[in-house]
Amino acid sequence: GAARLAGVAGDPIAHSLSPSLMAAWIKAAGLDAVYSPFRIAPDDAEAFFRALARTQCSGLNITLPHKQTALAIADQVSPAARAIGAANLLTFRDGMIHADNTDAAGFLGALLARGVDPERGPALVLGAGGAARAIAYALHQAGVPEIRLSNRSRSNAADLARDLVPDARIHDWDDRDQALDGAALIVNATSLGLSGAGDLVMDWRRAPTDAVAADSVYKPLQTGFLRDAAKCGLGTVDGLGMLIGQARPSFEAFFGIAPPEGVDAHALLHAMLEPAL
Ligand code: NDP
Repeated sequence: GAARLAGVAGDPIAHSLSPSLMAAWIKAAGLDAVYSPFRIAPDDAEAFFRALARTQCSGLNITLPHKQTALAIADQVSPAARAIGAANLLTFRDGMIHADNTDAAGFLGALLARGVDPERGPALVLGAGGAARAIAYALHQAGVPEIRLSNRSRSNAADLARDLVPDARIHDWDDRDQALDGAALIVNATSLGLSGAGDLVMDWRRAPTDAVAADSVYKPLQTGFLRDAAKCGLGTVDGLGMLIGQARPSFEAFFGIAPPEGVDAHALLHAMLEPAL
């Protein structure tokens, strides 16, 4: 049969790590498949998705700025994508477009891969954008007993709570250190820590020493947030965990098998982000 096709659509897309990760899994699994990056301008996204859905293409991962468009044009939408309000995965079957969100499951997978029980709480989610919505949804679905939210713009945290975690406790941004008291999991889902942006600074001495800090930012891999948490003895989970975690169910949706064992995805992507000099 013909080689199978899947890919990732975004704008920009050149620096996406997904094609390298998927290529490594495709090769290790011995599949006859291609996973391609597509740079698609916002005005062209809907037509592109509809056109590709009429081909033999298995589906697409969707990244910035198309996650809402992908949700809006789908014929079928998973509960996760509907609740989060964004889709990072489109699959095509019989001309129908199915939208899903694997960022949420990917975050839980990242915790599990590091031996962290995703159900432990209280959990503090910092941020209220797309990443925070996926993470808060995932923790709520996992049954975390207490979810705390803090975001620079309180109204965005209130919207997130209303949509996804009605019983969340919202802490003012300036008082976010108070939310570290007794917390078991603390997640940076802001864009602070990205190279060029400032660091997310926390008073980690207030957190229990057996707590775990997780970051959604992966450029750089070692953010100030994680470095400071580690200095205070906390466990850490970096942003590549979530990236790899969302790719796993995507691979399975495209190719019908789980990613093969024997690929050290974290080491592969780490080397791409920080090539040895
Ligand atoms: P959004 O733009 O949707 O949200 C940005 C968030 O950061 C908002 O909560 C915003 O607060 C907050 N923020 C921005 N600047 C500041 C600042 N100076 N001080 C305090 N808070 C600030 O972004 P996303 O949610 O899509 O992405 C967030 C991060 O997560 C990015 O670094 C992205 O790369 C990463 N990400 C990682 C994934 C992975 O697989 N590892 C998946 C998806 C995202 P406010 O509401 O007040 O504006």
